[in-house]
Amino acid sequence: MALLHNILEHNARWVEEHNRPVSKVPHKKVVIFTCMDTRLVEFLEPALGIRRGDAQMIKNAGNTLVDAGGGVVRSLVVAIHVIGCEEILVIGHSDCGMGQVDADGLHQSMIERGVPEAALNALRPSFGEWIGGFHNPLGNVERVVGLLRDNPLIPPSIPVHGLMFDPAAGSLDVVVDGYA
Ligand code: ZN
Repeated sequence: MALLHNILEHNARWVEEHNRPVSKVPHKKVVIFTCMDTRLVEFLEPALGIRRGDAQMIKNAGNTLVDAGGGVVRSLVVAIHVIGCEEILVIGHSDCGMGQVDADGLHQSMIERGVPEAALNALRPSFGEWIGGFHNPLGNVERVVGLLRDNPLIPPSIPVHGLMFDPAAGSLDVVVDGYA
């Protein structure tokens, strides 16, 4: 409870100093799909020269794509077809926490916290398939770029790049050059 109150108190002060409207059309016409890792917050964007108003950002655990018509792809469809983004950057990172998650341990811990087993067993893909295929963050970037490249909802004219980010150094390496 204290966390939300602290955030709201801070927000009330912050609004007075920072109320500056910005266009919703990104200046750089790029949509970035990356991991929700804490270390990337206010670090990935400046490392790429991306400022507020420059790009659309989509984040999830491990920048994973589990469904060809799911939330990530739908967000990309909006970024491209509604907002006018012209390029996609898929950015994974080294030392990603998703690579260390134990599917069986996660399943057990959720059961212990009262999550119904039937709800867990109904997940598609299953925890095993989802997390099991994630021990290689670089391979995941290649896989996601390939899936997006082949996805008919993403126009062929949109370059899909794959990159790896170092969450300590801030350096960026190209895994897939979307122009090639
Ligand atoms: Zn991560």
